[in-house]
Amino acid sequence: MRTQVGIVGAGPAGLLLSHLLWLEGIESVVLEARGREYIEQRVRAGVLEQGTAELLERAGVGERMRRQGMVHHGIELRFGRRRHRVPLTDLTGKSLTIYGQQEVVKDLIRARLDAGGQILFEVDDVRPEAVEGDRPLVRFRYGGGEQELHCDVVAGCDGFHGVCRDAVPAAARSVYQHDYPYAWLGVLAQVAPSSDEIVYASSERGFALHSMRSPQLTRLYLQVEPDEPLERWPDERIWEELQARLGTDDGWTLGEGPILEKGVTAMRSFVVEPMRFGRLLLAGDAAHIVPPTGAKGMNLAVADVRLLAEALAAWYKTGDTGPLDAWSATCLRRVWRVQDFSTWMTTMLHRAPGDDDFQRKLQRARLEYVAGSEAAARSLAENYVGLERV
Ligand SMILES: Cc1cc2nc3c(=O)[nH]c(=O)nc-3n(C[C@H](O)[C@H](O)[C@H](O)COP(=O)(O)OP(=O)(O)OC[C@H]3O[C@@H](n4cnc5c(N)ncnc54)[C@H](O)[C@@H]3O)c2cc1C
Repeated sequence: MRTQVGIVGAGPAGLLLSHLLWLEGIESVVLEARGREYIEQRVRAGVLEQGTAELLERAGVGERMRRQGMVHHGIELRFGRRRHRVPLTDLTGKSLTIYGQQEVVKDLIRARLDAGGQILFEVDDVRPEAVEGDRPLVRFRYGGGEQELHCDVVAGCDGFHGVCRDAVPAAARSVYQHDYPYAWLGVLAQVAPSSDEIVYASSERGFALHSMRSPQLTRLYLQVEPDEPLERWPDERIWEELQARLGTDDGWTLGEGPILEKGVTAMRSFVVEPMRFGRLLLAGDAAHIVPPTGAKGMNLAVADVRLLAEALAAWYKTGDTGPLDAWSATCLRRVWRVQDFSTWMTTMLHRAPGDDDFQRKLQRARLEYVAGSEAAARSLAENYVGLERV
């Protein structure tokens, strides 16, 4: 097989890249290890920055998001059993859209297939090769047979556990990693959200988050131990802990309902530099992971591929390699800004096992500052809604 851009991974990064390239008249083939149904049901992120939502609109894949997404103008911080609203739109002029990542994936798959795009699901044993030269290829197994995809460049959009990053020789990459001493237990509950906006709660018992996926579905998270066994969290214990951590003194109540799904997610920061090696370009989670507290993972993946599509279009149309040469450094500026913001939000809101009273007092002072100072709230807000330029 031959195409212009070989894309490994049909997550938000790979699918959106394929779609944006198609809009520029550039061909691609997407290779995905999982089945279509699986990736269309995989519940993950759900907060779209305004820039992300606008890009999906402009690219012609925003129709369902416009109808079903929930536009938010603020978030709430809770500590000391009190509520403090951060009015994002008043402070920045921008809003957020709550729309599940799996819905973005569904919209993009449909758009690609309707346009005759090629997504090969359930491929196996994917191996990017010869990426140092100008004739890279991807070998893989598909339908029981060995296949080769020849292309001009390979986009490694295969997430944190993918194979593309390892195609870069260890000596040619630098890795920066930080593991946090806690994880998130996430649940999806069949109950109407109890708040109109996302609630971030810092309590003596640890962090909790109340979010939503639709008017009938609530998404909730609890800070737990890293590698926490799910068996330790029967539904009754989850609700009890959520009630305790999210509770306020002003009579707010958390509605409970059947838990449809639960899982534990590790909290990690990770960056590989550079994001380009020869003709291999690593985008999205394949190149970086942020702790989910700042709701940035999918937005970063989208920012990477927007720039990558523009850089590839410039190269194909005019032969200008400038944007492609600058792509990794341009992306990494945003990656580190977001890494810092996500770490700041995380450490401000979670209770680390070794924290002493001094740390707790500092954490409280930071929360009070954001709640009480417009300048501090504005800084949080502009990062949360997404910076246009970094
Ligand atoms: C459990 C979980 C919960 C999350 N929750 C949040 C959240 O609440 N908020 C937030 O902002 N972010 C969250 N994130 C992060 C966010 O979902 C990611 O940042 C986002 O998915 C990145 O998109 P991507 O396309 O780069 O990678 P992915 O979505 O991981 O897509 C990579 C794709 O590549 C495929 N693949 C992997 N290996 C291969 C291979 N060898 N060959 C072919 N295909 C391969 C995978 O099946 C997958 O479809 C969460 C992530 C996880 C794992």
